[in-house]
Formats: sequence, structure tokens, C-alpha cells
Amino acid sequence: MGTAFADQLTRFVFERAAVRGAVVSLDTAYRDIVACHPYPPGLQRLMGETLAAVCLLANALKFEGSLVLQFQGAATLRLLVVECSSTLELRATAQWEGEVADEARLVDLAGEDPGSRMVLTLDPKDGSPLYQGVVALQGESVAASFEHYLAKSEQIDSRLWLRTAGGRARGVLLQRMPASTEADGATWRRASAAMDRAPSTFDAADAHAALTVLFPADDVRAFRPRHPRFGCSCSRARVAAALRLMGSAEVDSILAERGTVGVDCEFCNRRYEFDAAEARGLFPEPPTAVVH
Ligand SMILES: [Zn+2]
Repeated sequence: MGTAFADQLTRFVFERAAVRGAVVSLDTAYRDIVACHPYPPGLQRLMGETLAAVCLLANALKFEGSLVLQFQGAATLRLLVVECSSTLELRATAQWEGEVADEARLVDLAGEDPGSRMVLTLDPKDGSPLYQGVVALQGESVAASFEHYLAKSEQIDSRLWLRTAGGRARGVLLQRMPASTEADGATWRRASAAMDRAPSTFDAADAHAALTVLFPADDVRAFRPRHPRFGCSCSRARVAAALRLMGSAEVDSILAERGTVGVDCEFCNRRYEFDAAEARGLFPEPPTAVVH
């Protein structure tokens, strides 16, 4: 498993055309994330493809923060959430009901539009406003859904190739820059067609090998790789904040029933326990008015 490609994201540009992209391999990162919950294999596979896609897009973030993708389904898959920070820390979670076939496609699990949606949220950490894009879930696969989203919301021609197998997820993103010329168009069409033959990319030993196999006729420059990994931003302080939002009445009723309040992180499955005193301490008495 330990190849030079493992847990690496490599950005690349075509030297002679306004075409750029990135290639990613998620290895330990992917396995750590799907090990957090007992996801069925078919859902693990879709989660791997979605992790690769979100990681490829988050790599382009120009601010400190994160990119959050939600597939909201109306069938077996109720919700798939994948988050990637600007430092390429990834986490994911899913809610589903019923059987998931090993070879299920996104459209099989999420159901047809209407009722299924794709929501992409840009969440800057500096407190500036969220940006959220919502489209009806279209396309049979994870890759097709992202291509549809990018065409609609960013108006950039994009091609995505995604695959999960053998305990790793790999992906390639190819984009045609808005300012590209007619001559660039020929390169775009050739490179884009190469994406349809991309399965050989899955076996490449490193990013350079993958790019050489994919685009043998082009001068492609690869940048220094970045290192995606599993990481969850949950914390005791965040859970405490969520409990405060729930309100003291609700927390009191849990205490009355169980004696403590336990919260499991839906992403990493870490458990946070608050005993009665700690839970009550979240709701200080309002300060008494000072009388002069
Ligand atoms: Zn967590």
C-alpha cells in the first residue's frame, strides 16, 4: 500500500494550453474515515469517490476554512457529508436506511430529483459569510454530479474521474480556464477524452506516472504534492456549545433519565461525556442585578 502516491494531492498545469487540474490518492486517509462507522461497502465506495472530489476542489480554496459537500437523498441514502479544510484535513459521515448494494450508483442510493440535492458550502474560518450553492442532484455517478454542479455554478468546463478500490480512493480533476482560446480547445478535447480512458490511472505508482499515462502528448508540469489526511474538528468545547443551544430543559431531562449526558461525534464517533455537575455548569444562573 505504501506507494509514493499514497495520501498525496498534486496540482498540475498544461504548459501550452489554458488547462489545469489535480490528481489525488487517498489511502490511509480514506481507510481511517470509513473505519469510523460500520458503513456498507457500497456506501464506503461512494464516500471514497466523494472524499477524492471534495479534496480536489478544496485544494483550490483561497481562504482558511473548509469546503463542505452534502448529498441529501430521498431514498436509501438520506445524507452524505464530506468536509475538507484548506489544509486538506478530511472527515465524512452518512445516514442511510436499508440495504446498500455493493455496486450501487449515487443515483440508485439518493433517488431521482426531486427530493435529492447537492449542497456545497464554503465556510471561511475568519467569520466572513458562508457561501452556499444548491443544485438538484443530477447525473448517475458522484463524478457526473460534481461536473453538473461546476458547470452550473462556476461556469468552468470540468471533468472528474473518481474511483475507490482496494482500500484507496483516487481522483483526477481537469478544468479548462475561462480565458482559453480556440487552440486551447483542441487540447481540452484531447485531455478530456483521455479522462474517459483513465482507469489505468488507478494503478499508477505516483502522480507523475499517472499524468504521463493520461496525457502522453502534452507538456504537463506538476507542482509539489500536498498531504490530505483524516482529521476531525470536534472538541469538548464545541459539544458544550451544542448542548447550550439545546437548552437547559432538554439537558435536564436527559440527566433525569440517564444521570449523564453523552454525545457521539457523528463524523469520528468520539464520545464526549458530561456528568450531572458538568452538564448543569453549562447553564450558569443569570447574574443578579447590581443595585446601587
Ligand atoms: Zn469528531
